[in-house]
Amino acid sequence: MPAALAPSVLSKYEPVIGLEVHVQLLTATKAFCGCANHFGSAPNTNVCPVCLGLPGALPVLNAKAVDFATLASLAINCQVRERSIFARKNYFYPDLPKGYQISQYNMPLAENGFIEVPTAEGTIKRIGITRLHMEEDAGKSLHDGFPDSATRTYLDLNRCGTPLVEIVSEPDIRTPDEAFEYLTRLKEILLYTRVSDCNMEEGSLRCDANVSVRLRGAERFGTKVEVKNVNSFRFVRAAIEYEIERQIEVLESGGRITQESRLWNANEGRTYSMRSKEQAHDYRYFPEPDLPPLVVTPEFLAKKRAELPELPEARRARIIAEYELNPKDAFTLTASRDFADRFEAAARTARSPRRVANLLLSEIGGRLKALNLEQAQSPVSMAGIVLAADLLDEDKISSKQLKQLFDVCFEKGEDFPVVYDREKPQQITDSSALEVMIDEVIAANPKQVEQYRAGKKTVAGFFVGQVMRASKGQANPALLNELVTRKLES
Ligand SMILES: [Zn+2]
Repeated sequence: MPAALAPSVLSKYEPVIGLEVHVQLLTATKAFCGCANHFGSAPNTNVCPVCLGLPGALPVLNAKAVDFATLASLAINCQVRERSIFARKNYFYPDLPKGYQISQYNMPLAENGFIEVPTAEGTIKRIGITRLHMEEDAGKSLHDGFPDSATRTYLDLNRCGTPLVEIVSEPDIRTPDEAFEYLTRLKEILLYTRVSDCNMEEGSLRCDANVSVRLRGAERFGTKVEVKNVNSFRFVRAAIEYEIERQIEVLESGGRITQESRLWNANEGRTYSMRSKEQAHDYRYFPEPDLPPLVVTPEFLAKKRAELPELPEARRARIIAEYELNPKDAFTLTASRDFADRFEAAARTARSPRRVANLLLSEIGGRLKALNLEQAQSPVSMAGIVLAADLLDEDKISSKQLKQLFDVCFEKGEDFPVVYDREKPQQITDSSALEVMIDEVIAANPKQVEQYRAGKKTVAGFFVGQVMRASKGQANPALLNELVTRKLES
């Protein structure tokens, strides 16, 4: 780590951050050939002359990759070009047998988008998206895991030709936290559109960060450094934090920032210089002669637009209004599209959808949290929660009884309908039995009766609670309320 810089020094500078995100598309086959696009196959089994770059093999564009890339473009508010051009990006690397990557250069599929992120000040900030272009992935060099890894590198070319989109943000991001939020929102949108599994451990989503600093108020950007190979959003945040401080320290000590690529080392919590950064002209881009221009018609675009799901931000806003929830709860319910879909499908069948939301968040959520379980591990199904909500709503069980039943569900790992059927908790709905208990409680608490009669009506709750306890939670709540009020008023 650089020596800690004084806040007064740090605040002289403004960080400027842009992110480049590579996303593998969830197609069944590769971008330009029929090989399986599948993670985890035995090395070098999903390959053919096209993705191995053998002479004479010709690429054919995968229509599903265009579907997914277009959906992703629309979901991040980009304008999709009617005509985009594939280009060859030339460079040598052992895991790139063709010697070039098919990418898009000056005419990418989509441009000028944005996504919105919440800021620390509680406002919403729009981060521009410069472009989304399609390209193919390279293979993988395996540097360890073999007996002779100390002296040899192995190649797995299964990943060659995997369809990717690269999403490049504008240099609009100013803090490591904003970068974290941007990535979180972007991933969530991509997951909702189901174009990628965004699995960072498997490399389906990869992020490079361009970081520079400039004196506050300066117009020109500082020299930027690209931090590569960061495989979690937390690490991206940490790498950017480190890089900002490193650059300020260099500038403060009279040095200059070199344009370069740096690697994040998570174990040491620092970046290392990797190589001087390539410039676009180093790649000798030229239009791919083996592929025609990609044409996206207005009709196709309209069809894709109609396929877009309700996106996370919009869904949260609707859920907050519809179920009268706070933003935090709405976030919990919309954490994944599948979960939100299951919740809403179930809630709509209940007498009170709002009650389903509340039970799911408080009773189920609380028990899961206490046991350190994921939502998917809950013994209580959505249908079980709906049944519980309806029973409460129809006053067939008290909330105390419900809590007890949920406890049994979690103890025995059984769904609510099973437990309810077996235990069928009895309610005391006999007025005379309840009245006896109420009379006893009233007789035992003259002071509270006095308070009530002096106008403090909330004391009724005290009596309801006492009787409920005396009945071991079995008093019918509505009837109890009514009888308590009647007795106190008489
Ligand atoms: Zn192939």
